[in-house]
Amino acid sequence: ALYNSKTSLRGRTTVYSAEHEARIRSERAIEAALQSADLASEFQVYFQPVVQLPERFVVGFEALARWDNPQLGRIAPDKFIPIAERAGLIHRLTLSLFEKAVEQIKALPGTLSLSFNLSAHDVTSAETVAALLEIIRRAATDPRQITFEITETSVIGSYEAAETCLQVLRNAGVKLALDDFGTGYSSLGYLHRLPIDCVKIDRSFVAGIKDPIASGVVTSIVNLCRSMKMQCVVEGVEESNQLELLEAMHCRLVQGYHFSAPLPFEDLLADARENGRV
Ligand code: C2E
Ligand code: CA
Ligand code: CA
Ligand code: CA
Repeated sequence: ALYNSKTSLRGRTTVYSAEHEARIRSERAIEAALQSADLASEFQVYFQPVVQLPERFVVGFEALARWDNPQLGRIAPDKFIPIAERAGLIHRLTLSLFEKAVEQIKALPGTLSLSFNLSAHDVTSAETVAALLEIIRRAATDPRQITFEITETSVIGSYEAAETCLQVLRNAGVKLALDDFGTGYSSLGYLHRLPIDCVKIDRSFVAGIKDPIASGVVTSIVNLCRSMKMQCVVEGVEESNQLELLEAMHCRLVQGYHFSAPLPFEDLLADARENGRV
């Protein structure tokens, strides 16, 4: 018996370290592919509509990065963004993606907003912030049309640097949204310390919205935002019963597969034309 338990223990250790090694190998491969990637051709920006209730108008789009590498295939942003950060490649990547997003959205009416995700490294770099603003200026886009989405975790490590950068963006006229709200550590603390215009409620709350606690959290955040005169977007709306509950809470802005998955710009435009919106 003793012998058996030892082997199984050793077996498990081996499996664990094999998995660990495989992950490290895969991350190294992604990093190497990122280093030599052709940003212009391998990366694309998809767009997901943000919908206003109760009218169900599209009021804007969130830009979401997609990477198709010739060797590795499609790699999810959740995977490559942290690797790009560690490898010091995020600056170049952010600017290239933002430039694409701004370029494409120019074809749409100026009343529609563009939301763009920034990483921790972007919101603590004065150089990146200046370059982002330069892209907006060169494209002659109204800065008020742009919202940068940041997460709480991205500002925790270097609060001072982030606060300065966020203030520079805000002074230039762009809006700021706190992403994945409710999943961080000190959500409420950051809400009044940072110059935020909008809160995005994480989709985990919507997934459990039939549960009274989750729906209570959503109601409280929606009401809190209203009293702080902030916008609030509920993410991850997939089903019509979730939408009905959110409408009953007088929730104004929603996003999710129920309306549309993130799509290439051409597909969105075709959709909008079909519905006579553009
Ligand atoms: P996020 O900013 O929270 O983006 C929302 C994610 O939820 C997206 O995943 C989107 O495709 C997905 N989503 C939208 N509606 C639904 C829904 O109804 N149900 C479910 N289950 N999911 C939904 P995606 O595109 O894979 O992006 C993942 C994360 O990667 C983003 O989370 C964001 O943090 C990051 N990311 C994406 N693009 C960029 C980028 O250009 N720059 C940076 N720094 N981060 C990015
Ligand atoms: Ca986001
Ligand atoms: Ca989010
Ligand atoms: Ca996220």
